[in-house]
Amino acid sequence: KNIQIAIDGPAGAGKSTIAKIVAETLGFTYIDTGAMYRAVTYKALKQNIHLDDETKLAEMLTVSTIDLKPSQQGQLVFLDGENVSAEIRSNEVTSSVSQVAAHARVRELLVAQQQKLAANGGVVMDGRDIATHVLKDAELKIFMSATVEERARRRFIDNEKRGIESSIEKLQEEIALRDKMDSEREASPLIQAEDALFLDTTDLSIDEAAQAILKLAKE
Ligand code: C5P
Repeated sequence: KNIQIAIDGPAGAGKSTIAKIVAETLGFTYIDTGAMYRAVTYKALKQNIHLDDETKLAEMLTVSTIDLKPSQQGQLVFLDGENVSAEIRSNEVTSSVSQVAAHARVRELLVAQQQKLAANGGVVMDGRDIATHVLKDAELKIFMSATVEERARRRFIDNEKRGIESSIEKLQEEIALRDKMDSEREASPLIQAEDALFLDTTDLSIDEAAQAILKLAKE
């Protein structure tokens, strides 16, 4: 079936972890749109393109290919055929991505790709503007959040696992700043869609949150 599930929310709310489980359980495709913005940012940094230069960024994007491929270790991200799954999670990319994602032309190009990816079969897509822009007609829309303290704590544990050094205070600052930029930009800001259900994951385990969504999906 062509059922679409949209999951939006601020950084570190658990969207990707939970969306992946929901997709696997339902046999749907999982699409991490944040990874696409990260891949663009990674390439722009590598090519020394000014992150405020919307025209250059859009030009770069039209000659780039971004592929998302499911694997045992989760979703892999390929940029122009190269596996950049680890690179796009670096601190440098993380702290620059909101600047790149603020450009309307960058968004237009990526949204078109995202809509194409969602065109066949069931899909679980996570991001910031999925319910409001990318998949406006999604059957199920979830706006997922948690306190900023809890989100920073989760990122910290996640970073430890990846061998990335960080401090909770720094992460909290970084998350708050990214949320602010994502919520205050003009082009498709992060906002809960009118027809989205709010899910607070602060006191939920990953499995509890996934089960809550699966229950809604079956209704
Ligand atoms: O989900 P993730 O934290 O990897 O997203 C990285 C960044 O990409 C976000 O902070 C936001 O600036 C941008 N983004 C977006 N729209 C989406 C997904 C991500 O603007 N649909």
